[in-house]
Order: sequence, then C-alpha cells, then structure tokens
Amino acid sequence: SNINVGLTNVGPETHPLTWRYTKAGKSVLTIEDYEALEGYSALKKAVAMQPTDVQAEVKASNLRGRGGAGFPTGVKWSLIPMGPDAGQKYLVCNADEMEPGTFKDRFLMEELPHQLVEAMITAAYAIGASKGYIFLRGEYIIAGERLNAAIQQATKAGYIGENILGSGFNFELHVHLGAGRYICGEETALINCLEGRRANPRTKPPFPQQAGAWGKPTIVNNVETLMNIPAILLRGADWFKGLSQGKSPDAGTKMYGISGRAKITGLWELPIGTTGRELLYTHGGGMADGYELSCWLPGGASTDFLMPEHLDLAMDYDTIMKAGSRMGTALIMVVDDKQNIISAVRNLEQFFARESCGWCTPCRDGLPWTVKILESIEAGEGQEGDIATLQQLTRFLGPGKTFCAHAPGAMEPLQSALKFFPAEFAKGIKA
Ligand code: NAD
Repeated sequence: SNINVGLTNVGPETHPLTWRYTKAGKSVLTIEDYEALEGYSALKKAVAMQPTDVQAEVKASNLRGRGGAGFPTGVKWSLIPMGPDAGQKYLVCNADEMEPGTFKDRFLMEELPHQLVEAMITAAYAIGASKGYIFLRGEYIIAGERLNAAIQQATKAGYIGENILGSGFNFELHVHLGAGRYICGEETALINCLEGRRANPRTKPPFPQQAGAWGKPTIVNNVETLMNIPAILLRGADWFKGLSQGKSPDAGTKMYGISGRAKITGLWELPIGTTGRELLYTHGGGMADGYELSCWLPGGASTDFLMPEHLDLAMDYDTIMKAGSRMGTALIMVVDDKQNIISAVRNLEQFFARESCGWCTPCRDGLPWTVKILESIEAGEGQEGDIATLQQLTRFLGPGKTFCAHAPGAMEPLQSALKFFPAEFAKGIKA
C-alpha cells in the first residue's frame, strides 16, 4: 500500500487493529503468516461459545460503528432474530469506503485481509448468518484480490464452508464489487445494489436487522468495526474498554488519519479520544511549512468544520457531537489559510451533487442549486439574498427531509462554513 502509516510501540495489547502489520513489518497475506500471529484463534474461541455469549461480549465492549455514525455494534447485533425459527440471515461488510479523505478500510483490507475474513466468520457465527458478503468499493482492486485469496485459503483450511471446526456452523463468504458510487455505501442502497437493483436508499424502518438483503434479517457492519471483533473475543470487553484515552466514554482504538497540507499525512491507530492536536501536531508534524491551520473537518466531507480552538477536544463520538460536528470516519481534513474556503465548500458540494441518487427532490434539486449559488459567490458574482438562500437550503436539505443521510451530510460543511466564515461569503456578493 502507498498509504503512510505511522505507528510506534505497537503490540496486540495496545493496537487490536494493526499490530500484526507492524509486527510482521509487511502485509500479512498468507494464512500461514496470519496464523503465526494469533490468526484464527479468536474464531476457535468463539465457536466453543454460545453465539449469544459472543454477542454479549461485543455488547459489553462498547464497540461503536466505525463507518461514521457510531451506532453501538452489540445493540445492532442484539436486534437480529435468533433461535431455530429465525430463517436465512446475512452478514454484510460495508467496504464501500468512499468518504472524501478517508482511506482507513482500504489500508486494513489490503494489509490484513485475513483479519477481516476471521472477523466476518466470527460475527456470522454470533448472529447465525450462513452467508456473508464483503461489499467492496469498485476501485479497491488490490483489496479485492487479496480478500479473494484469503477467502480461498480460509476455505481450504476449513474456516469457511460446512461444519466449521466441528461446530455445526456453515458459512460462505463472497466479495461483491460495488458500482463506484458514493450512495452504494448507504446501507440500504448497498443492499439494493447487492440484490442487483438500482442503488436507491430504502426507507428506515424497517432497519436491515429486521428486513435487509432479499427481505431477510441482515447485519451491515463497517470493515474497521468488524476487524476489532477478534481482539475483543481474545482479550475481553474490559480490556477493550481500557484502551480508550482519558475520559472518553467510547472504547478501543480508532484508525485516525490526516489529509491536506499537514507535514505528514497518513493513518495512525490511536486510543479513541486522542485529541485533534495530538493527531495533527505529534503524529502529523503540524501544518506544512508556510501554512497555518484555518479550519478542519473531523471525519470526511459530511461533517461540520471545526476551528483551531477545537483541536484540544477529545476525538470521540460524543465530544465532537457536542462541539457541533460529528467524528465521522475520524480521518481529518485540514484546510490551510491560503485556501479559499468558498472554493473548498463548492468543491465538496459538487461532489455531493454528483453523487446524489436523485430519488428525493430536496437532494436531487437542492444540491445542484447549492453548487450554482456557491459558484457565483466564488466568482464574486453573488446576488443579494444568496446567503439567505444558502441558509434556507441547509434547513430544506437537513435531517428528516430526505430518505437518507446524503443531503443532510452535504449540508454540514456548508452550514458550518456559513457560521465560521460569514465575511468570506459576504465578499462574494456583488455590490
Ligand atoms: P445512521 O445513524 O442512520 O445509522 C447507523 C447505523 O445504525 C445503521 O447501520 C443503522 O441501521 C443503525 N441504526 C440507526 N438507528 C437505528 C435504530 N433506531 N434501530 C436499529 N438500528 C439503527 O447513519 P447512516 O445513514 O447509516 O450513516 C451515516 C454515516 O455514514 C455518517 O456518519 C457518515 O460519516 C458516514 N459515511 C461514511 C462513509 C465512508 O466511506 N466510511 C461514506 C459516507 C458516509
């Protein structure tokens, strides 16, 4: 992988996600290399437990979804029907990573494919799913090759197939390539896409846990979320909770990252609750020479901008939410003082407008309208009333007005830019 990963003092006790990569000093691609580093021992432990006890351990660990929303994983799992009459169930890994500035799942899948495969078999055992799909971003070719090879090796070793490790549990696992559209990562659009339909989001409820793929109970979990499962089972929920930083209510570590004009961009697995300042200045080496930090997005494009004074906040789900944004994927994008903020926001909104599935009117029509106004403000041709219209659009496209989180997410950088940089917007209005 060409992703820069900065890690020191890494071991299984402190870095559940990445320790094997660092210990091996290279990608861990073969089953032999993976098994030499505790590989598949969590699965062996799990199949000797009751599935509901595996679920209980994950629930007790306080693991929250790492795709961006932070929904508690154990709670999600507990909503799936169990018991002999539950029928066909599916486990889907959301590997359609397409959030701008986010490349953590790509790294994890390319370097540690067996860890995801083991996590999926273990999770499928816990929820009683006999079929699993890794819904992979279409452009992640290397990850796809490596995951398919890992699945073949795991099948040959008896970890996938019938009567796994003598437990009576059967499981098959497939990699499904996505269509290269951002909306395919929305879990219900993803399910439609998996079924061969157009990737429109479905209404929720029902949540996939009740009616997901082909109408059957389905758990959709992100790559990073799942890849924590083997370590939670091996070392326990209390150990996992103890990994987080300081007063953070969240548990475990997090893949944090930086893009933009920092000295060092890349990925770091750090205790959840690490501050933005530690991330940017200790790990990222600060801003590149000649640039100052103007503002930053905490986790991808669909979050609100934060300012330099927010760098001392713990980067956990609740703290960043209280500050008026969302942690999202926790790969920060830094905006420097030489960057025109209107151009930056216009660029993000162009992305969101292009990626709208077009199903609901506020999103389909509101996003291109937003882009048009931003383009004229950027060119210094803004009309009187344009800023008020943008403010209105942030409400009309906001939460509760659309089928999915696409348009509300798109409004987050805009609404926060309007709040923090009113003078920049005013400058673009023609006198
Ligand atoms: P969401 O909060 O609606 O749902 C998150 C998860 O929790 C879903 O799996 C959902 O089924 C479950 N859930 C939520 N409420 C529930 C309930 N009442 N009962 C049962 N289950 C419930 O968010 P979302 O629309 O799935 O995702 C939005 C997030 O996606 C944003 O935070 C954004 O940061 C992130 N995102 C990530 C990427 C990426 O590439 N990683 C791309 C785009 C967006």
